[in-house]
Amino acid sequence: MGQGLSCGTSDEHGLFTAVQCGDLETVKALFERNPSLVHHCTVYDRQSALHIAAANGQIEVLSMLLDKSVKPDLLNRYKQTPLMLAAMHGKISCVQKLIEAGANILMFDSLNGRTCLHYAAYYGHSDCLKTILFAARTSHIASSWGYARFVNVNDGKGATPLHLAARQRRADCVHILLDNGALACASTDGYGFPGSTPLHLAARAGSLDCIRELLAWGAERLQRDDLGRIPYTIALRHKHGACAALLNPSSAEPLVWPSPLKFISELNEEAKHLLECALMEANKEREKNILKGTTYSPTNSDNGLDDNISEVNDTEICCICFDQVCTIQVQDCGHQMCAHCVLALCCHKKPNPTTTSPIAPVCPFCRSNIVQLDVIKLEKDDGSSHDVSSTKLRKSRRSRNFSGGSSSFKGLSAVSSFGRMVGRGSGRIAAENEYIDKPIILD
Ligand SMILES: [Zn+2]
Ligand SMILES: [Zn+2]
Repeated sequence: MGQGLSCGTSDEHGLFTAVQCGDLETVKALFERNPSLVHHCTVYDRQSALHIAAANGQIEVLSMLLDKSVKPDLLNRYKQTPLMLAAMHGKISCVQKLIEAGANILMFDSLNGRTCLHYAAYYGHSDCLKTILFAARTSHIASSWGYARFVNVNDGKGATPLHLAARQRRADCVHILLDNGALACASTDGYGFPGSTPLHLAARAGSLDCIRELLAWGAERLQRDDLGRIPYTIALRHKHGACAALLNPSSAEPLVWPSPLKFISELNEEAKHLLECALMEANKEREKNILKGTTYSPTNSDNGLDDNISEVNDTEICCICFDQVCTIQVQDCGHQMCAHCVLALCCHKKPNPTTTSPIAPVCPFCRSNIVQLDVIKLEKDDGSSHDVSSTKLRKSRRSRNFSGGSSSFKGLSAVSSFGRMVGRGSGRIAAENEYIDKPIILD
């Protein structure tokens, strides 16, 4: 304050410009000349150099400031931290660096009472979102506040990060949040229309991708907002016809990710990815059927199901559906089936949130309890094994139709598949298994 105004302001202006464009040398020189500049802020918004560096992704300047022991949680006029600005602008390296430097992920701004997680979700920066969630899971927040509570943290109007992601059509973020325990059926207080669920907000935004994710994670089509409207009504009102078709309570129920099952919550990343893809694929098939009768063309997000097919050996075909390749091995019995059939088995009944212990499915071949699901490593011709989740292996439609009509094929395939089984399975399909009784699963 004591220094000459003209010199101070021009240095200050020079500093903020240099920070903004990442001119490290100039920033260093200015600090050498006037060390007190470290604590200066912009006049109106009270942004510090750290805020400006974070918002512009100037990682070198940001690191240098933190090395000068600038506190990571400085607040601007709106009580936003540098971490919030980095998350807002998707500056992942700054998000990481700030968190490393001890930035608090549980700060609330004064604009809307939002955290850095809200910002990442609202602006759709899934990498920042993941980094913040990882920090929450591994920090004291998890034990003091509770990880689930952090994932579902409310802003000033009762909106969780999931509400914001759904409203802004950020399907990637919706997926990550749901996967981390975000509540699909939470209602807002004042955000959007009071009582809105993420599904109401996705319906309003007309985001088919978000609706698909939400439904697959158990969002309720019949839940009403405070005005008594279901998401279907909202989609119709905003003329999102395809969304409305999926949200119509009388259209087919989607498969829902069986999160309450113990072995599902314990899946390794690979197996989880495989099953999630199978779930989305199965639900897209349902969508096609729902939209077939309407004027809306089926989703174009069908990412080439039939391209990218490798011909596979018949012995690798799942002997439940005779369509897909066996990719999952049931433990402990060692029986094998495709991801689609595993899902159909597990999603057979929509998880009921009121029952704490859902009835776990058993292996359809030997009826032993499923302890764990593992991804099968396939042997390539060159002898190296590769990960089935990285390539979409599927028997081509043509050969599928071929084999579908031939009962001798089925017999052969079944025998060879059984022959490959390891473990203590008898190889006999349990006849009274309810799943086998109702094989109408995926198509
Ligand atoms: Zn199958
Ligand atoms: Zn078995």
